[in-house]
Formats: sequence, C-alpha cells, structure tokens
Amino acid sequence: MKEYINKAEEYILKTYNRYQIVLEKGEGVYLYDMNGKKYLDFAAGIAVFALGYGNTEYNNALKSQIDQILHTSNLFYNKPAVEAAEKIVKTTGMKKVFFTNSGTEAIEGALKVARKYAYNKDATKEYEIIAMNHSFHGRSQGALSVTGNSKYQKGFVPKDCVAVFADFNDLEDVRSKVTDKTCAIICEPVQGEGGIYPADPVFLKGLRELCDEKDILLIFDEVQCGMGRTGTLYAHEQYDVKPDVMALAKALGCGVPVGAFVVNEKADGALVPGDHGTTYGGNPFATAAVSKVFDLYEKMNLLDHVKEIGTYFGQKLDELVEKYDCVKEHRGIGLIHGLELNQPVGTIITEAMDQGVIFINAGANTLRFVPPLIIEKEHVDEMIGVLDGILKKL
Ligand SMILES: *Cc1c(COP(=O)(O)O)cnc(C)c1O
Repeated sequence: MKEYINKAEEYILKTYNRYQIVLEKGEGVYLYDMNGKKYLDFAAGIAVFALGYGNTEYNNALKSQIDQILHTSNLFYNKPAVEAAEKIVKTTGMKKVFFTNSGTEAIEGALKVARKYAYNKDATKEYEIIAMNHSFHGRSQGALSVTGNSKYQKGFVPKDCVAVFADFNDLEDVRSKVTDKTCAIICEPVQGEGGIYPADPVFLKGLRELCDEKDILLIFDEVQCGMGRTGTLYAHEQYDVKPDVMALAKALGCGVPVGAFVVNEKADGALVPGDHGTTYGGNPFATAAVSKVFDLYEKMNLLDHVKEIGTYFGQKLDELVEKYDCVKEHRGIGLIHGLELNQPVGTIITEAMDQGVIFINAGANTLRFVPPLIIEKEHVDEMIGVLDGILKKL
C-alpha cells in the first residue's frame, strides 16, 4: 500500500489528509484493502453505498447499461433518465427533476431556481438566501456561500456573496433575518457534516409557514439524510413538511456519481430552456443506477429494515452514553447517527481502523455512523464491541 500512498501524494492534489489505507474491494458491508485486510464499514463511502458492495442485480444493471450506451448529452432524450425521473417524481409527489453529477451541483441548481423564482417576480431586486449555522451544502462557490462553517468558507467566498445565517432549530432567529430581499431558506432536515443534528418538527413546520407567508422557496438539502437513511425514503416525510426544492445525491446512485434537484409545482417554471444545463448530468449510465436503486429499495423492503435496525442501533449508542463519561451525547435517527465525545475522535477512528472497523467523524468531537442500509444487528454488535473496547481504555 505504501507505494500507492506515496504516489498518490506525488500526483494527487493534496486537499485531504487521508487514512493510510488503499481500499480495493467491497463485499456486502465489508471492505478490503490491498493487503486483503477486512473492514466492517460504518461509513459507506460517506453515506453513499446504501445497498452495500457488490449487489448483483445493481451491478448487472450497470454492466448491461455500459453495453447499451453510456452517454448521450442532454440534447437528446434517453430511457434511463426518464425512468429514474419518474420514480423520483412519484415517490416525492413533486413535479420535475434535474439530474446533476454531485450533491454540490444539485445545490447550485436549487439556488438558481430560488433566485430565478424571485427574479421572475421582481427583476430589479437583489436577493438573499437564509442558510443555517453549521450547515454543509458543498464546496463550489454557490454551495459554499450557504455553508454555515467559516472553516470551509474562509478565503473563498467574497463577503457580499455570503448568505445570511441563522441558528438551526431556532425559528425566531430565522424569522428575524427574513427581509424583502430573502428569496429562499435552505436547510438540511438532519444536519450531516455539522455533527448529525435532526431538525425539530416545529422548526421545519415553522420554516414551511414562513416561506408560504413570504412567497419564498423552502429548499431541503437531503443529499446526506435522504434516500432512506432516516427510515423514510426522504427525511422530510418524518416531519410531514414538504419543500419547494429538494437536493439529492450520495445514496441516490449508490456509488455512481449522480445527484438531482427536484422542484414542486410552485418552483417548476422558474427555470426555462437555456437557464441551466450540464454535459454529463442525467446520462444513461448514472440514471440507470438511480432507477435500479429505487427498484431495489422496494424489492428489499429496505425502509422497514432501516427503521428496525436503526432503533436497535440507537439503543446501543444510548447505552454507551450511559456507560462512559467521555461520551456526551447520542443524536440520530434511522441509520444516521452521531456520538459526541468530550474530546476529539481522531484517535478512536484510527484505532478502530486498526481493529477492522471504519468510522468517520462529523466535526472534531463527533463520531458519525452512516453504514450501508443493509447492515444487520450482528454487524451493529460487532461494531459496538470494538467501540466499547476502545472507549474503555480512554
Ligand atoms: C455531501 C453533501 C453535499 C455535497 O455533495 P457532493 O456530492 O460532495 O458534491 C451537500 N449537502 C450535504 C448535506 C452533503 O452531505
């Protein structure tokens, strides 16, 4: 592995401090590095591999799409994109889909929809977007402008392009920041990178009312918390609050780079031909994956599975909070959980990796658990056993 790690540092731009592992292969909920060492995976490529690794039906769908056609451009129609879009529309009850290559691009599109919606009402006005502190929406200029974390923004986003930030779950704070320039409110129903914070139901309901009252758009970023991770296909279903625009990615393609923004009736029509585009977005390869993902979720009854395992998982994490002083809090729902410690979790993550379990963090002090949605109780037990052993020594 050392040889590849050295070469990576020589040739790949260093924007990450990576774990010293070269992953080579995956099987179910396990990963294998170049030396054949096996890891139980509680990261799933950052909430991506919902179906786990090597699902035969999924793989075969992609293989057969490769033999058909990989790419067409958006100057033509293609079958898989239509099929995938139909599944998203039917499951969201929203109106239209635009496919992107990533979550960041889905956010960019969502922001453009919001700005254009306001522009269509009054082209002379400047626009502001309200976003949440500790949010994460991506690394491009637009997505960074609404990412409420100075660590990511610093040095990149010009001051006058930065969104107006309010505290997550503080409706009064959001309300106090709405002006006649506000064109949208963007928030994650469960904050992911920020440390796994689920929204309060009253907060999301309040945002919905506020947006209706002011005729501005409510954007939900479900890039991380969507696609079944919370136990419903979309996180906002848990809250019974519907967005005007929603961004999806991560598990949408279960490993193939693809995202989407979805608009409801109200936001449909904001963008017209010529307003937005992408060369790769919605290509037949990526959307064949999306389409198959929806079929498999249903066939495998994955959402019920997430609810069942998620409850068990949550109980096990609660037990660790009870048991150890250094474990401050457990937050989460379904199969998106955070365990906040009173100290940085970096050493726990590397120790766990040595013992063959992969965790990631969300902020310095929080362990993040976003495993493949197919994990079973025995995998939870295996992981908890390792984590318990590490916490005991702290
Ligand atoms: C990961 C993430 C993004 C960015 O998605 P990319 O595919 O990395 O561009 C945006 N929003 C949320 C909530 C995310 O977790």
